[in-house]
Amino acid sequence: MTTTFATLPLSAAMLSNLATLGYEQMTPIQAQSLPLMLKGHDLIAQAKTGSGKTAAFGIALLDPLNPRYFGCQALVLCPTRELADQVAKEIRRLARAADHIKVLTLCGGVPFGPQIGSLEHGAHIIVGTPGRIQEHLRKGTLKLDGLNTLVLDEADRMLDMGFYDSIAEIIEQTPAKRQTLLFSATYPAGIEQLAARFMKKPQRVEVEAQHADSQIEQRFYEIDGKQRFDAAVRVLRHFRKQPAVAFCATRQQCDELAARLDAEKISAAALHGDLEQRDRDQVLSMFANRSLSVLVATDVAARGLDIAGLELVLNVELTRDPEVHIHRIGRTGRAGESGLAVSLVAPAEAKRAQAIEELQGNPLTWLPLGGLKDNGEPLLPPMHSLVIAGGRKDKLRPGDILGALTGEGGLAGTQIGKIALFDYQAYVAVERGIAQVALQRLREGKIKGRSFKVRAL
Ligand code: AMP
Repeated sequence: MTTTFATLPLSAAMLSNLATLGYEQMTPIQAQSLPLMLKGHDLIAQAKTGSGKTAAFGIALLDPLNPRYFGCQALVLCPTRELADQVAKEIRRLARAADHIKVLTLCGGVPFGPQIGSLEHGAHIIVGTPGRIQEHLRKGTLKLDGLNTLVLDEADRMLDMGFYDSIAEIIEQTPAKRQTLLFSATYPAGIEQLAARFMKKPQRVEVEAQHADSQIEQRFYEIDGKQRFDAAVRVLRHFRKQPAVAFCATRQQCDELAARLDAEKISAAALHGDLEQRDRDQVLSMFANRSLSVLVATDVAARGLDIAGLELVLNVELTRDPEVHIHRIGRTGRAGESGLAVSLVAPAEAKRAQAIEELQGNPLTWLPLGGLKDNGEPLLPPMHSLVIAGGRKDKLRPGDILGALTGEGGLAGTQIGKIALFDYQAYVAVERGIAQVALQRLREGKIKGRSFKVRAL
């Protein structure tokens, strides 16, 4: 398969510009997506940073652009200001081939005035974050009636940050006859929902075929039933993998293990049917935003739990049903990544192990617990959660919280993790090292012009 740009129906000026940029061969994502995008198809592409995705959609959105019409013809939505700046820079480089194409960034956390001034001068391409774009649309300072191309970049991350409703509101103000391009590293459920609602017969492109069967490494350790929790601590400290789920047999076992892990400075919380909805929301938000290392759960409580990227499943006690075991360990190692499943087995549970062996059709790997090192080091999560005493009912949006943290002289967008909004509260994750600074900033500053109570969890 030829992969030079010259095989594409691009203008001579664009081709020579690509050559001066040193882009000779197309990257795999470009080779697969550009022919489809240049034909005008909607596209869902699985692509990570570093794959050349920005040039892929950049070339595609520049192709139909009319330099003589000064309205917004292409809009790129990004999760953070840093990404928007990078994308705008790459598009400007690609646009050097054509005359005077104006690329404008519109992101939250910076003053409105200058953005309005720039918009009045006209811009062909706008790159921005959903919250701020939405505000410009509401104020009437931005119109999207002349839009040809809409790009959702890092769509999974935007959904993680709670931008679904903002994106939907923005798309509703664009012409129905537009090309929609969606780039995402992973495919959480919200992506399908966006595609079904807003895309027309999208073509799909994946750079590497994902392995249907992921590689899960299973290890079994024989333990003394009385020292089950000691063994669990040892496993967690030795492998130091997180996020992890530790499966227990009962609610009581969950509570006891969570308390023990807490005492051992291993970040953990129990999830079981006895929790109030509010506590359940809190535990799940913290686990999803990486501010909790170990979720200690019963099978029932973990049902429907869809957390991508679990690094470890720990079976604190084997289940009686081997099918349930297979289901438990399937939560690690999804989408072609390797995963680890560790099972602790007391002599009385030997029959359960045997049933698993029979179902799997191959022998279990037994290892000695003594081979695991426990140097007593705490296991802490990468992020810290802050909870704001305000939510949807206060008309708070994720962009407002992000803006309050990152605005003028604030924190970098890359230091902020997931934002989860509930009716009366919101959780935002920040890098652990800046939790105090972030807390102070939210307490002293305003969010959407109002003061809210904020605490660190
Ligand atoms: P991205 O995945 O969009 O962040 O791009 C990764 C890097 O690859 C950027 O620095 C681009 O300038 C560069 N790049 C994109 N396409 C090509 C290409 N066809 N050949 C060489 N470098 C490229």
